[in-house]
Amino acid sequence: MYHSQSLNDFLEAQLHAALEMLRQMVGINSYTANRDGVNQLARFTAQCFAPLGFSAEFIPSNNPEFGDHLVLSRAGRVRENIAMMSHLDTVFPPEEEERNHFYWQPEGDRLFGPGTQDIKGGTVMMWLILSALQTQAPKLFEQITWNLLWNSSEETYSPDFGDVCRSRFDRETRAALVFEAEGRLADQHLMVVARKGRAAWRVTVSGRASHAGGKHSHGANAVVQLGQTIQRIAALTDYPSELTVNVATIRGGTVLNRVPHEAVAEGELRAFKPEVYERAKAALLALAGPGEVRSPADRYACQIKIEIIHESRPWPRNPQTDALYELWQEAGAALGIPVSFQERGGLSDGNQIWDAVPTLDGLGPWGDNDHCSERSPDGSKLPEYVEASSFVPKAMLNTVAILKLLQPNQTGD
Ligand SMILES: [Zn+2]
Repeated sequence: MYHSQSLNDFLEAQLHAALEMLRQMVGINSYTANRDGVNQLARFTAQCFAPLGFSAEFIPSNNPEFGDHLVLSRAGRVRENIAMMSHLDTVFPPEEEERNHFYWQPEGDRLFGPGTQDIKGGTVMMWLILSALQTQAPKLFEQITWNLLWNSSEETYSPDFGDVCRSRFDRETRAALVFEAEGRLADQHLMVVARKGRAAWRVTVSGRASHAGGKHSHGANAVVQLGQTIQRIAALTDYPSELTVNVATIRGGTVLNRVPHEAVAEGELRAFKPEVYERAKAALLALAGPGEVRSPADRYACQIKIEIIHESRPWPRNPQTDALYELWQEAGAALGIPVSFQERGGLSDGNQIWDAVPTLDGLGPWGDNDHCSERSPDGSKLPEYVEASSFVPKAMLNTVAILKLLQPNQTGD
């Protein structure tokens, strides 16, 4: 049993403290490569949750250039547990923040600043929910075991965080809740139930160099071969099956009087469905081998090498996620908040863990322009912000849904 009015009053009363916490978090630059900043934010975050009874572990990243992952845990009276996930890092180097004067800046309902939406607002959302449960459902809060996990380096490739998470999951883990920002469609609040997988690839063509004047016919031109190969790669894109292949960078050759011996292109492919993803990867890799561009003199062929340089598997629609989502929809119906779902093209840590425990994403507040720090005088370009007024309703929704998950028979007033 929960009282929606007292829950709402409590959250409204906490909002000031929550936004002050957010202001301080945004003030700490935590660009992925800013190891000290990420570690400083981890310590500050641990302090914020300590009054709720959480103790901290700092777990070194596999990559020594990155800060530590943060795990905060609170042991309950039963093994039944819930995981909540966020990340510490942002995409903004300190120099970029300085160049674009991109700092904490409230303007009406919009709170501009690096990481306000992605994802420090999500971290603050976790604090609001747990504070609400502690006071509004104290027995349940004490009973359940809570594990809160922050990736130090979500914005780059960090598969080791998935291992950290899985080591904290067990058969009693009821849900992994990911606090990336919510989606919106008109008045609908969109939870994230699936995300595309992504494979980053590199194509390296080795030809044979020769003098462009004296021995042109002896050369096997790697740039010309790469030009042909990337056409085939780009043609793998198939919108009906939600498969996109992006040729992103290309370089090759050295000086103008050589037939170039090397050319390299990089890009990525993305898909929702595991079978589409695997088929596309296989089709890409099948383009490796001897190319059709050959030296006219002796038929020496260019060689095409294709590598997957990193990879995050797709998080497809699945019954466990859908069952969790239904609880959020029920909570929305009880509270008068329109809730719907979204399959999102971008990645999150949900991709790493969805097959281990039931996972739902998009549980953070609403904002926009994530990963953007620029502002144009005419306002056509605005940097990342979060909406202050989105915190309390979303915290209500999350709290009531969690209560429904843990106490299937309870109702509101
Ligand atoms: Zn994020």
